[in-house]
Amino acid sequence: YAAQQSEARVIAYDATRDPHRPERLSLMSELRRAIDDDALTLVFQPKIDVTTGQVRGAEALVRWTHPRHGPVSPAEFIPLAEETGTIRFLSRWVLRKSIRKLAEWRTMGLDLKLAVNLSVRDLGDRSLPEHVSDLLLQSAVPPDRLTLEITESAVMRDPDAALVVLERLAALGVDLSVDDFGVGQSSFSYLRRLPVAELKIDQSFVRPLAASADDRSIVRAIVELARALNLRVVAEGVEDADSLELLAGFGCDGAQGYFIARPLEAARFEDFARQPPVPSKFAVT
Ligand code: C2E
Ligand code: MG
Ligand code: MG
Ligand code: MG
Repeated sequence: YAAQQSEARVIAYDATRDPHRPERLSLMSELRRAIDDDALTLVFQPKIDVTTGQVRGAEALVRWTHPRHGPVSPAEFIPLAEETGTIRFLSRWVLRKSIRKLAEWRTMGLDLKLAVNLSVRDLGDRSLPEHVSDLLLQSAVPPDRLTLEITESAVMRDPDAALVVLERLAALGVDLSVDDFGVGQSSFSYLRRLPVAELKIDQSFVRPLAASADDRSIVRAIVELARALNLRVVAEGVEDADSLELLAGFGCDGAQGYFIARPLEAARFEDFARQPPVPSKFAVT
């Protein structure tokens, strides 16, 4: 019965029977080409200090304009890149560009942090810490300027393997953040062991904050958990002024979201970061 079942599964995943498969594969070879040709771009979404309104840095988000299909959402191509292994090349491209950007900001007199998203595959890549270390040294960027965002679910896929890579990254002095916190299969015992400095509250709890008492309770509880564990806490998906005010009241450290700014092209982000933190600067679109 077991053999029958596994055979059935093989047949179910037969490439010739999956109408989406050829298209997905060609999309991935086109993504590989875009990486090699430097045809991807990064946009930068500001992360602010909730109490002062000051821009502390940004999250780097990758953008891909396909030659025929136009803009393809990372929500579409990142999971595919993870499945096919292309993510390894993508992550290294994003890291290289991001660390160069950090070096550029320093020469411009902008003391900012930059967060890069890692994927589950990166956490199994034992050569990644050395690669990151080399890039930081080449650009003379202090390691604590770089934040690496990892989702809870990525860590929990293979916690022991992830822990090896994360500990080596943390030993470099790189800042680690748990992204999309609250929607993964949280294991508090692992959370306690992870060498992370920041929790990033998932936007599904933050977007409805002003309208939902339940979400306010959850966010308040996550802020308290972070406090108790001596972690910084950032809310993503802040879409209105009321939410930002609530977060300040809860004692949340940082915020990111459309109300503060959309992901911006480098030059626009740099202008945004240079502005003094006055309320009128909010709501850049
Ligand atoms: P994420 O890391 O959780 O990034 C936050 C996503 O939420 C971004 O979408 C951002 O544009 C969006 N967002 C920010 N503020 C708001 C808001 O106020 N409201 C709403 N509705 N959305 C908001 P984006 O750029 O489409 O990226 C989606 C996901 O794709 C990211 O989620 C991340 O998991 C992945 N991703 C993006 N860039 C990279 C990358 O360079 N490498 C890797 N591995 N993953 C990436
Ligand atoms: Mg992120
Ligand atoms: Mg997130
Ligand atoms: Mg997300």
